[in-house]
Amino acid sequence: MKVLVCDKTENEYIEQMRAAGLTVDVRDDITPEELPNVLPAYDGMVVRSRTKVKQALIDVCPNLKVIVRGGVGLDTIDHEYAESKGITVMNTPRASSASVAELAIGYMFALARSIYKATSSLKAEKWDKKSFEGDEIGGKTLGVIGFGNIGKEVASRAKALGMNVIAYDPNAQEAVGIKQVSLDELLNEADYISLHLPKTEVTANMISKDQFAKMKNGVRIINCARGGIVDEDALYEALTNGKVAGAALDVFAEEPPTDWRLLKLDNVIGSPHIGAATKEAQTRIGAEVAEKLISFSKNGK
Ligand code: NAD
Repeated sequence: MKVLVCDKTENEYIEQMRAAGLTVDVRDDITPEELPNVLPAYDGMVVRSRTKVKQALIDVCPNLKVIVRGGVGLDTIDHEYAESKGITVMNTPRASSASVAELAIGYMFALARSIYKATSSLKAEKWDKKSFEGDEIGGKTLGVIGFGNIGKEVASRAKALGMNVIAYDPNAQEAVGIKQVSLDELLNEADYISLHLPKTEVTANMISKDQFAKMKNGVRIINCARGGIVDEDALYEALTNGKVAGAALDVFAEEPPTDWRLLKLDNVIGSPHIGAATKEAQTRIGAEVAEKLISFSKNGK
């Protein structure tokens, strides 16, 4: 089986696939313009979030049998269309859960104690102790929207930190010690809201003006899921009128953003979509990608 690796993947796992008899070519800087000319010669492809696999590309690759996405979301792949053409689409659903959960928890502390602002002030050679009275996160209510792999990892860590955790997920199973509530209840009760659901037609702009109106004054929002689940214009308004005390964003409606207004606000902190960017997650992702492709080459699944 011939596989094209289109995005950065740990070398150790590329060698593992070669050792298992796969022909693996690495073009982890391949452009969208080059792909339609190169990919038709391959049976399989490996992508992360950089390479998008849309219908037009699938149409020019009649030999393609398998797409493996190292990561969780399949929103960068027209996966239903690919599957309708007989292509198997796989991802690595749990490999980065702990890393994303730790980032979300880190952001709660960073917002509660203004760690970014305090650091900036100190670097400007100011000793401004009075401006940085924060809050404890223990005893506060965390509302988790999307109670899947990552939502559960966030919830268990938050419980261990003494938070009261509630969750909203139309498909979630019961979990010990976590109260499942309606979205409106969650919006009413939470001091912190952390999003862990996919971006779909239903969830796009799901947190907008009406939802902000239902939240507690001074709520803090963490989005390490996907940009565009929170309506960025409505978030900007809520951050500037005092409804939302702070937001931490790892993801943006457009990446990189072309409109930097949100990030210029004092009460916004963020990162360039680094939820899964840990050594541990990358290692797990590489291992799972190799395992899935080797298995597919042997068993066709
Ligand atoms: P998952 O599939 O295990 O869980 C997602 C949960 O969201 C499911 O339980 C589902 O029922 C729920 N959900 C779907 N629609 C919903 C709705 N309308 N309201 C509430 N809940 C809803 O996925 P996961 O591994 O927990 O990942 C969650 C999301 O995190 C992914 O979809 C991905 O977009 C994002 N993610 C981001 C990074 C990053 O680098 N920042 C890394 C990995 C994943």
